[in-house]
Amino acid sequence: MKVRTRMAPSPTGEMHIGSLSISLKNYAFAKRHNGQFILRIEDTDKVREVGGGVEEIQKILKAYSIDWDEGPGVGGSYGPYIQSKRLNIYQKAAEELVANGKAYYCFCSKERLEQIKEEQKISKSPSKYDEHCRNLSPEEINKKLAQKVEKVIRLKVPSGKDVKFNDLIRGEIVVKSDIVNDQVLMKSDGYPTYHLAVVVDDHMMDITHIMRGEEWISSTPKHILLYEAFGWEIPVYAHIPVYLNPDGKGKMSKRKGTVSAQSFLDRGYLPDALLNFMMILGWSRDDEVEIMNMKDYIERFDPKDVSPKSVVFDIKKLDWINGIYIRKLALPELEKKIEKFLPNDFPIDKLEKILNLIRERLEKLSDVEQLSSFFYREIQFDSTLLLKKSNSSDVTAQLTKTIEALKIIEEWNTASIEIKIRTLQESLDWKKGQYFMMLRIAVTGKKATPPLFETIEVIGKELVLKRLKNGIQLVNNY
Ligand code: GLU
Repeated sequence: MKVRTRMAPSPTGEMHIGSLSISLKNYAFAKRHNGQFILRIEDTDKVREVGGGVEEIQKILKAYSIDWDEGPGVGGSYGPYIQSKRLNIYQKAAEELVANGKAYYCFCSKERLEQIKEEQKISKSPSKYDEHCRNLSPEEINKKLAQKVEKVIRLKVPSGKDVKFNDLIRGEIVVKSDIVNDQVLMKSDGYPTYHLAVVVDDHMMDITHIMRGEEWISSTPKHILLYEAFGWEIPVYAHIPVYLNPDGKGKMSKRKGTVSAQSFLDRGYLPDALLNFMMILGWSRDDEVEIMNMKDYIERFDPKDVSPKSVVFDIKKLDWINGIYIRKLALPELEKKIEKFLPNDFPIDKLEKILNLIRERLEKLSDVEQLSSFFYREIQFDSTLLLKKSNSSDVTAQLTKTIEALKIIEEWNTASIEIKIRTLQESLDWKKGQYFMMLRIAVTGKKATPPLFETIEVIGKELVLKRLKNGIQLVNNY
């Protein structure tokens, strides 16, 4: 089977995470069948275009290692791959439809169109072009052309017809042609509409499978009618459901948090982890494998297995997967990746040791500040925590003796610290649970930390002794 898939984003701003997921699927499906994945820029809507948008799209796909076989930057034999550079192609295609009686010139003024809309609103009938220019006589047409009246080209939608297409995810979809507008194909400024451009390009670029967001499903009948008008073969469709917000309510959108593919990198998600998450999300398979790489995915991905129901973008699951990928990184690699998330006051000479201690608990690279700050910043905690299961004179005695024991250590390392502290606890028969928890809180301000002796080593002798003294003061002031 020959397979050519495409991603056809418009440069209208940052790429949405849903578009990244659709790119992933198109990419994997093409690779699975030794086909090609094409990147095409749909920039015919100049009003919505954002400066730098084309570069942005390429940058983000590259950041996630979704490489395209043809498209901007890499070329290919079906170019140009930017629609604004193909205007003459669309013009020619639209004129061909006019010549074959499948489309027509429409000279209606904006005012007239507005008026029809108004009237339809009042009479509560569906908003649709009234086909006024569909039946102009050749003389009338020639006259208007000679007068250079502004015009568009509209598709002559056949009446009384069932427009059918098969969606790999949703099965057969049938729409009555009578509810389809005689849509504009070419605008008066010489630009095609999305509908014309997408069909012409998908056909000319030999695209075999169109996988795109479900928001385009209502446009598909229009596209089918266009393929039929041209007499072209219809590609295979799969409309991918949108993600729902993490709270399960509504389409994942900006209003409920950042949704751009870039923002996930900024928050310290690893590209491979996010891709893995999107691979398993909404994919019904027989097994429950959750961790998979691109190679596994390419071997197995089939759009038929995508669930037609929208799935919740489960951030907790993403965090869990991201944590697994962080732990898989070799330490030097983690050090490199985490660098840009380190706060200014981070003691860089202790980076390796601190990472070793906190990596188990890192879910995002950006967690580093929160998980490591007690190593180098002032700690704050509720002093009553020191007195849990004990009283202030006993705790004072414990802290004083601990200070004495630690003070005389010459080689400050985990082993020497451990021996001193354990000997103290055992010889004075202090309750293990109480003592160690009290010590942990005095030294770190937290109940849950990495292993205590290692932590004490990394915080450093001076700071540890200072915090223990501070602990004595706290319990005495209490
Ligand atoms: N240009 C459309 C977009 O921005 C492409 C839709 C399609 O894939 O047909 O998403």
